Amino acid sequence: MAYTFRGGSHVAEHKHTRRQQIEKMDPPARVSIPLSQHIGAHAKPLVAVGDYVWRGQMIGDVEDGLGCPVHASVSGKVTALELRTNVAGTQSVHIVIESDGQMALDPLILPHEKKLSETTAEEIIDIVRRAGIVGMGGAAFPTYAKIRSAIGKAERLIVNCAECEPYITANHRLLLENPAGVINGVKILLKALGVRHADIAVEDNKLDAINKLETMLADSKLMGIKVLKTKYPQGDERQLIYALTGRELPAGKLPADVGCVVFNAETCAAVFAAFAYGMPSIERIITVDGDCVANPKNLLVPIGTSCLDVIDACGGLRCPPQKVIFGGPMMGAAQWDIETPVIKGTSAILAFSAEKVKPSKLPEVCLHCGRCVQNCPMHLMPNYLVQYAMQGDLAEAEAFGALACVGCGTCSYNCPGNMQIVQYIRVAKGTIMAKRQAEKSRALAQDKSE
Ligand code: SF4
Ligand code: SF4
Repeated sequence: MAYTFRGGSHVAEHKHTRRQQIEKMDPPARVSIPLSQHIGAHAKPLVAVGDYVWRGQMIGDVEDGLGCPVHASVSGKVTALELRTNVAGTQSVHIVIESDGQMALDPLILPHEKKLSETTAEEIIDIVRRAGIVGMGGAAFPTYAKIRSAIGKAERLIVNCAECEPYITANHRLLLENPAGVINGVKILLKALGVRHADIAVEDNKLDAINKLETMLADSKLMGIKVLKTKYPQGDERQLIYALTGRELPAGKLPADVGCVVFNAETCAAVFAAFAYGMPSIERIITVDGDCVANPKNLLVPIGTSCLDVIDACGGLRCPPQKVIFGGPMMGAAQWDIETPVIKGTSAILAFSAEKVKPSKLPEVCLHCGRCVQNCPMHLMPNYLVQYAMQGDLAEAEAFGALACVGCGTCSYNCPGNMQIVQYIRVAKGTIMAKRQAEKSRALAQDKSE
């Protein structure tokens, strides 16, 4: 029997690229690497305009607090440090590098010298931090910080290979084409955490990958496969932990608070590459799809490549896009600039025509059918939340759990009344959080002045 969670729904899969082997993209002429592409502080630049940089060279780092270094994904010359809008719609400095076409690797990039058995947890954390590895499922939380916060608290390691968003097949292809990279990365994470066993969790729409992993792990005592029912949003950490352990993760808590730690499959492979070869996080697999893309593919793309260059590597656009999304269609972020560069958390680029994204002409009416309540994986009452959000009643929206909403969009997807539920809740949630932050800053300022 496949593992699952309560709520959620089966969304149309559109996994057209599931049989497309990962292709390595030709080096782009230019990359634009944001100094802020993770949760945490912006990195400070370590290079200046005119500098030559190697591929893999660290070009930005965070001195204090949570954050991650960033590295050059091509060799060449730094031509600008410019303020640009990033994937999330906020402004940050980008380091622009004109490629010399050589992809010359930094000679300082070397494998870790010791065997895994002789390596300490702190050494692994340092390797992962220096490599700038973050959660590659989209959340982009620095992996070194996740490992550190879970040591001594987590006793179950879960590898998230659910890939429940429609269209995206990057993890699926990774499991088929580089399962050893994922498995070896899991061994390193187990060692760092002092955890004895890992569950590799895969949805049952990837049977070929499940079969492959089961064969490879037939005699393994360190890890096993857990087959998940294909249902959205199974890849959400909360739903994954519940499906495998029955433990509920309360809003505002971390997986380690319920004894678990979750890593995305590509993150595990990145950890192995950092340990075995010294490779920092400078490229990632991206599913490129949507009806506007001439040849949908899974591409290995240097970080900082523009969206347009990625689409060009897939034969270009066959029709003008109305909407370009970074990530999946349920939770991804629509972009206003087709030149937006790829970051470490970009799992997909989807380009859709006006025909595919045309808004419904029906009015937004709640029919009180209760479907949104039935499907909400967080067990909220989206029907009430949307009403309070529409009325601007933030106190009631908060009382009804707006902050616990994970923004999965299952409610909107299933609503027969055409209510744009998740959009309203997102705005309300953002406003509540901004208000809280402003109150906190005011209180801090007051404390300082007293
Ligand atoms: S699914 Fe839509 S129509 Fe049904 S109760 Fe929820 S908001 Fe109302
Ligand atoms: S209310 Fe939030 S968590 Fe619940 S289904 Fe809607 S978007 Fe998902």
